[in-house]
Amino acid sequence: MKVLHVASECVPFVKTGGLGDVTGALPRALAEIGVETRVMLPGYRALRPLAKNGRTLRAHDDFFGGPARLVEARAEGLELLILDAPHLYDRPGGPYLSPKGRDWPDNARRFGALSRAAADLALGRVEGWTPDLLHAHDWQAGLAPAYLALDGGPRPPSVFTIHNIAFPGRFPPSWVGELGLPDSAYAIDGLEYYHGVSFLKAGLVYADRLTTVSPTYARELTLHEYGMGMEGVINARRRDFSGVLNGVDLTAWNPETDPALARSYSRRSLGRRAENRAATLERFGLAPDLSGPLFVIISRMTRQKGLDLLLDALPRLLARGAGLAVLGSGDAGLETGFLAAAEANPGRIGVRIGYDEPLAHLMQGGGDAILIPSRFEPCGLTQLYALRYGCLPVVARTGGLADTVIDANPAARAAGVGTGFQFSPVALPALVAAIDRTCDLWSSREEWTRLQTNGMAQDVGWARSAAAYKAIYGDLLGRDA
Ligand code: ADP
Repeated sequence: MKVLHVASECVPFVKTGGLGDVTGALPRALAEIGVETRVMLPGYRALRPLAKNGRTLRAHDDFFGGPARLVEARAEGLELLILDAPHLYDRPGGPYLSPKGRDWPDNARRFGALSRAAADLALGRVEGWTPDLLHAHDWQAGLAPAYLALDGGPRPPSVFTIHNIAFPGRFPPSWVGELGLPDSAYAIDGLEYYHGVSFLKAGLVYADRLTTVSPTYARELTLHEYGMGMEGVINARRRDFSGVLNGVDLTAWNPETDPALARSYSRRSLGRRAENRAATLERFGLAPDLSGPLFVIISRMTRQKGLDLLLDALPRLLARGAGLAVLGSGDAGLETGFLAAAEANPGRIGVRIGYDEPLAHLMQGGGDAILIPSRFEPCGLTQLYALRYGCLPVVARTGGLADTVIDANPAARAAGVGTGFQFSPVALPALVAAIDRTCDLWSSREEWTRLQTNGMAQDVGWARSAAAYKAIYGDLLGRDA
């Protein structure tokens, strides 16, 4: 079985969030169970050296406005197909934004081209490798199933995965012609979305199977409160839609071998976490002798993540003797809010604005609890890392957070199965109550350790999810998985 994944992010090459983690780890897990997998990525500036040394499968003089090559390359245990098109991707800044933080004005063309190249490959128009199935991720790859379906001839099946419905990939209707899509596709049962085109909707309408990254988010997406205007389309495709939980890369995230930790540890040597805790406190300029737990936050700073609520909950957290270390960047208002809180509470709240992968690892290994008060969370990865690292997740009961954390309520504690704390609704009183419950448990070493070891025993790897995807592929290809 040969599967082409199409995405705009892939760890370790390019990542702005969980999508990159998934497309970096899932192909490896699929390869282990016999699915030959390749990942097609835009040839961003950081990928050009790899593209230069790769094997050209196809070259165009004019592909969406400039020369382009489709290059096969192998790196970091992944088989890659890089769309090397300097006029589209050889730029400074992130994958979607200019260095000034604005969307590139030609993002429709940039990701339309990626989707077109993927569809061409899947249609067998490129010598060298033809997949049996195309798996597109999020809006950036949403046109790939559309190009396939609208081609009209025989074609392989496609799967489309929603990692976050909040990004519809919406552009003016004039792009329909420019991207080589038929006018007929600009319709309510096509890719029209509130008087524009939505690449995400294209994926939802034209792919043969739809998935999202947790069972609870799959249910939530059928509802008006979560569907962001796509709930109608999703309900229409309900029979083809399911949730498959993400896993984590057990090699990159392993407290027994993690080079970013001050001290490695396992479930049986949790006492060694103290060194990571001390290192985290020091990195954030926090007092070494907090009486309460050290809470951490590792997050994009957006409204989605509920961090505005957390700012309001800080007085309670401080009153309980806890400390807080925050790593993240995003909304200017939130950044300012946390920086101001740190300034007003030296030694108790520390903030790093920015993106720092090794620091994120250290915080998981040194924090006592991680706060994730998301308003919605398709799957969430930080709570999975936290479970693996013995950092208790304190999470909103939504999406993948609801599916992966077992609330340590009295029944769960009696049965010895709790792994963290959930709260609902996502509002200040419930968040404060969850902080209180966490601080209450902090005084019982034995129970705290029980929750840590329960979490560390959870299976958060990719094996189970990879098998679920393989079963979906098998269904579509009419084969036994
Ligand atoms: P989302 O994809 O919505 O941002 P996830 O929890 O699914 O949320 O994934 C976030 C990923 O990004 C995790 O791997 C997390 O560790 C990482 N991350 C988020 N912010 C930072 C940061 N400032 N520094 C380092 N890693 C971060």
